[in-house]
Amino acid sequence: AEDFKVTPWEVSGEVDYDMLIERFGTKHVDNALLDRMSKYGELHPLLKRGIVYSHRDMDWILDRYDAGEKFYLYTGRGPSGNTHMGHLMPWIFTKYLQDTFKVPLYFQLTDDEKFLFNEKLTLDDTKNMAYENMLDVIALGFDPTLTKIIIDTNCIKTLYPIALKTAKKITFSTARAVFGFENSTNIGSIFYTSIQAAPAFMVSEIEGKNVPCLIPCGIDQDPHFRVARDIAPLLGYYKPALLHNKMFPGLQGTDKMSSSQPNSTIYTTDTPKQVRKKVMSAFTGGAVTVEDQRKNGGKPEICSVFKYLHFLFEEDDKKLEELMIKCRNGEILCGECKKSLADSMVNFIEIHQEKREKARDKVQDYLFCED
Ligand code: SF4
Repeated sequence: AEDFKVTPWEVSGEVDYDMLIERFGTKHVDNALLDRMSKYGELHPLLKRGIVYSHRDMDWILDRYDAGEKFYLYTGRGPSGNTHMGHLMPWIFTKYLQDTFKVPLYFQLTDDEKFLFNEKLTLDDTKNMAYENMLDVIALGFDPTLTKIIIDTNCIKTLYPIALKTAKKITFSTARAVFGFENSTNIGSIFYTSIQAAPAFMVSEIEGKNVPCLIPCGIDQDPHFRVARDIAPLLGYYKPALLHNKMFPGLQGTDKMSSSQPNSTIYTTDTPKQVRKKVMSAFTGGAVTVEDQRKNGGKPEICSVFKYLHFLFEEDDKKLEELMIKCRNGEILCGECKKSLADSMVNFIEIHQEKREKARDKVQDYLFCED
């Protein structure tokens, strides 16, 4: 039975990522593709570890690139609250792609989407949050000469004509079949996907010729771009290509870090004390008693602390492997392990927060459209 759900607005249950590939009709990032990508620069751990695991047309992007036709990157964020580690992960990967291929990035902040889909948020709330979230993007060090940040309501003049052309090709029944709209009660949400599709075609519009677009994003965002890909040829555009990552797990053992569970979630604005507290109360694969764990070992495969190290906080494959063995043999206890993760995360957050504050002076360098 399929007891999990993955949509752009909800991820629940225990996600079977292989089944998602089948359900969505995407392709595995297989060894042949990894081999090919390794020719452009050292593979990012997220690729090597199968966290960026699925794609659409990545081979084609590389074919075009090899033929001298540079692609651009497009990704984004729905600004409904503070940025957390689950958001940062795909952006860190996006930066790796920009650094490796030296290509432009358009980063979309969908203040309109979050206004439409969240009953409680005003348009001022989502716009303010877009500016806050932007600081986290800038803090990661994206090249300012190659990176432009789109806030939807600021850039609507550029986006709207493309969104209109897109919207005209998407039937109501397609939108309903793909998105469901089970929890939405307004007509804005039906139109919204065409705004999210627009940046995938925008550079082609601006340059007056087709430019390949690569979208690194969570697999949960695939439905938007599946629709965009279906209609692209009808409008004379290239289909956008995609690289999908798995969801960054929550600290309490859930499959996706989510703002609805603050204790499971590390925000980039958390204090070091808050980070430590959350990590120290994380769900682990440890046994109930110390004696039991020493004797029978822990279960790294279900442990959120281990997952964090695997996803972002231990880049050294050998060290990760050693920890797994030590854990299974009962040679390390959860307290020690959690403390070490908390140290790494606090270190990361402190450096990030410093850069985030400095980013306040750089906002104008990155904005695609002025207020
Ligand atoms: Fe997880 Fe570490 Fe405990 Fe093993 S020892 S279950 S990896 S926290």
